[in-house]
Amino acid sequence: MTFHSLGLAEELLKAVEQTGYTTPTPVQMQAIPAAIAGRDLLVSSHTGSGKTAAFTLPALHRIIDRRPVQGSGPRVLVLTPTRELALQVEKAVQTYGKALRWLKTACLVGGAPMFAQIKQLQRQCDVVVATPGRLLDHLTRRKLKLSDIEVLILDEADRMLDMGFAEDIDAIVAATPAKRQTLLFSATLDGVVGSMATRMTRDPQRIEI
Ligand code: AMP
Repeated sequence: MTFHSLGLAEELLKAVEQTGYTTPTPVQMQAIPAAIAGRDLLVSSHTGSGKTAAFTLPALHRIIDRRPVQGSGPRVLVLTPTRELALQVEKAVQTYGKALRWLKTACLVGGAPMFAQIKQLQRQCDVVVATPGRLLDHLTRRKLKLSDIEVLILDEADRMLDMGFAEDIDAIVAATPAKRQTLLFSATLDGVVGSMATRMTRDPQRIEI
């Protein structure tokens, strides 16, 4: 199977080609077409499986044809457990989204100055990658609105719960539109992750790698 058969926009395929990938990984083969079709996803996969591209590419595909409307908020939100992972995901968004010249991203993580992040948000960002605590901080201070979110991605959901982010995540999700698409990635889909997943997704497709 090739990336071309997954249904991705030409601009994204070009970016993938430039990274040197020739064949999609198993999680990409399953997750990308389902996400492009608009399904909510519950994916059990580990670091190293290619999961970052599995959610970044369909999220960019969804917003590729529509430039941001003046005054609108971000359309894609990725929540990650750590600062390092958030930076990695933001880099992936910039790499795969290279052809979208208007694309702006923001990375909102704890331990970094609020002021610089607020300035980033004032530029009207399309994709926000964040750790839950800091994102909620911006939301509470009304520096960010989530009412235009079309795709919500929870990366390493089990780790976020282990780190005590459950309430923050609930508050963030409540601020996004109910009609959003939700893609949840986690090492495990059992227990508390499973119940969170059930609360946050609609008729999700389960993908277990
Ligand atoms: P991830 O699981 O998203 O952390 O990705 C693990 C590593 O695999 C990263 O270094 C990616 O750049 C790389 N990668 C992702 N997708 C592919 C692919 N289809 N072919 C080869 N390498 C890939």
